[in-house]
Amino acid sequence: MRNWLPLAQQIAFGWDTNIALCSFVALSFLFGEGANPWFLCIAGIAAYLPDLDLIPFLLLRKKMRIAGHWVFGHYPIIILPLEVTTVGIIALTTCRHHALFLISLVLVCTIAHFVHDAAARSHGFHLLAPFTRDGQLRFTLASPTDLWVHYTVSWTGVKEAPKEDVQRLYETSLQRAQTYDNYSEIMSRVEAVSLSQVTTFGLGTLGLVALVICNGSGPGCN
Ligand SMILES: [Zn+2]
Repeated sequence: MRNWLPLAQQIAFGWDTNIALCSFVALSFLFGEGANPWFLCIAGIAAYLPDLDLIPFLLLRKKMRIAGHWVFGHYPIIILPLEVTTVGIIALTTCRHHALFLISLVLVCTIAHFVHDAAARSHGFHLLAPFTRDGQLRFTLASPTDLWVHYTVSWTGVKEAPKEDVQRLYETSLQRAQTYDNYSEIMSRVEAVSLSQVTTFGLGTLGLVALVICNGSGPGCN
């Protein structure tokens, strides 16, 4: 029987949700904004935005032999300017007084998603993709074992990830993408909720309550 509960728990308390919640609270205080629930939703969308490339990945992975979903949505150099331009145009036309806050909010949430991808595992993340190892611009759906430099991010700084870990990532991902059904492919990425995630969620929620008490729920875009 299929059990989606671990996925629901990870969406509720996972790091991307915590990124959205904590960034929203911190930036709202910084910009003197109220706790506008629509802006919190925008933070959530921005924190999960890169992972939307899971959809084409799940649809095309077997036919096109794609190793993982870190394709278009996980190219920071492409996604971040696109995001700023899109949010900037929409905010300036519909919500002008909050435009700078909204642009900062989505940028922080999406950058934090990439930093978390680079911090979570020893194989790191291709922070400079789609620029290749030799400085060329290249888009590919194939398994790019030696195309990108992967970096790991930690409290001590940014380092190049060990090549053998990157190689293993693409090999196991490709094997999985060819054999797993969609349910197994999704659930293989879901981990149990950790104490640090729940703690961060609790602190973020306390911050949200403090924001409502101090700044109210905000005037919206009127
Ligand atoms: Zn990601």
